[in-house]
Amino acid sequence: MSKLIPPIRGMNDILPDVTPRLQHLENVSRAILVAYGYREIRVPVVERTELFSRSIGEVTDIVEKEMYTFEDRNGDSLTLRPEATAGMVRAGLSNGLLYNQVQRLWTSGPMFRYERPQKGRYRQFFQIDAEAYGLPGPDIDAEMIVMLSRIWKHLRIRQVELQINSLGTPEARAHYREKLREFLRAHQQQLDEDSLRRLDSNPLRVLDSKEPATARLVADAPSILDHLDDDSRRHFELLRGMLDKVGVKYTVNPRLVRGLDYYSRTVFEWVTTRLGSQDAVCSGGRYDRLVAQLGGKSTPAIGFAMGVERLAALMQEEDTPVPDASPHAYLVRVGDLAQIAGLQLAELLHDALPDLRLILDCSGGGFANQLKRADKSGARVALVLGEDEAGSRRVGFKPLRNDTEQVNLAWDEVIERLTPWLE
Ligand code: ATP
Ligand code: MG
Repeated sequence: MSKLIPPIRGMNDILPDVTPRLQHLENVSRAILVAYGYREIRVPVVERTELFSRSIGEVTDIVEKEMYTFEDRNGDSLTLRPEATAGMVRAGLSNGLLYNQVQRLWTSGPMFRYERPQKGRYRQFFQIDAEAYGLPGPDIDAEMIVMLSRIWKHLRIRQVELQINSLGTPEARAHYREKLREFLRAHQQQLDEDSLRRLDSNPLRVLDSKEPATARLVADAPSILDHLDDDSRRHFELLRGMLDKVGVKYTVNPRLVRGLDYYSRTVFEWVTTRLGSQDAVCSGGRYDRLVAQLGGKSTPAIGFAMGVERLAALMQEEDTPVPDASPHAYLVRVGDLAQIAGLQLAELLHDALPDLRLILDCSGGGFANQLKRADKSGARVALVLGEDEAGSRRVGFKPLRNDTEQVNLAWDEVIERLTPWLE
């Protein structure tokens, strides 16, 4: 035997016992996005490296140490996308979707970051991502947040908390950054090594440090909300008023800064206490300068990304209902005549009942063996075809999950009998 080829660390195979939960999450999200006017676009998983360094920011964790960057055969530097927003803006600009237009767009797919793999943190992970362009007012921020609340409600996810903050304009933030840096310098001895390094390059990132001593220190740091420009303060007040009116609960967290440079004004994050330290399940914010920064005409924008694996893990923790994917029926067939008759009966049933999940036994053996497999498959009903039934176009109908007796039915009657089991 030749040697097995191992999978790549941090990149998961998602197996059939998990996919029904992911599909449910995706189906519910897609339906609600469509209901709010978002249209799907699909963009490449590879982009020029420059796209990410120019948008996410040179001194962010993602660009400094998490990107999968390589040279293609042409010598161009390419990167596996670590997030979707930059590619969405690039695609919008490349295809003329953003110029003087309002667009609500969504996409989904794998993202790649070279992080230390652990529960809820992978090197390939999936996001569902939505972006709205051309709308400067806080009402689109509110609508996006309300829409996400609706998605959690439909999925029956309860144990999430919404945190919001405003980062103001880049100018106001630069002013705040200096104030924060002064404060942190004055308490340098209490900072961990990472935070010390960020003191110069990106002091805002110190605010969401997970080191206990640093976290205690920044609780007393100056608040960004005291340094907002007037327009941003008004924008944030309006947003809060709207969320209050529609009954969406939130906490204002002035230390929520997000790890990407392109945000301005509104930022938000849904966090949970059920998943350990990987606690963010959906994050987003406004990025009014990014489109211009990437060469387009100045265009306000806001977007979010849902962490699919973390949301699925939360659904499992909360034991939320997921549509059943087990087969409704299992078709047992014994004898030469029953082989072809079984195939015909299965086709007749698939024609009549498009939602039917039917397993045709193709493993052979006697009735006892096939019925054992039927039971193991999780099917609710076994359809039993022997030589006699095959010859007379009849079939045994045997409920597997209760004590009801097996009955002998004509093929046409099976359709009617199965219908109530499909719900
Ligand atoms: P974290 O603080 O947990 O590293 P982040 O701020 O880097 O998250 P974003 O870039 O905002 O995350 O990505 C949006 C969402 O994608 C996150 O809220 C999270 O649910 C998910 N996510 C981010 N990185 C990973 C990862 N390595 N593995 C799995 N999910 C992830
Ligand atoms: Mg991260």
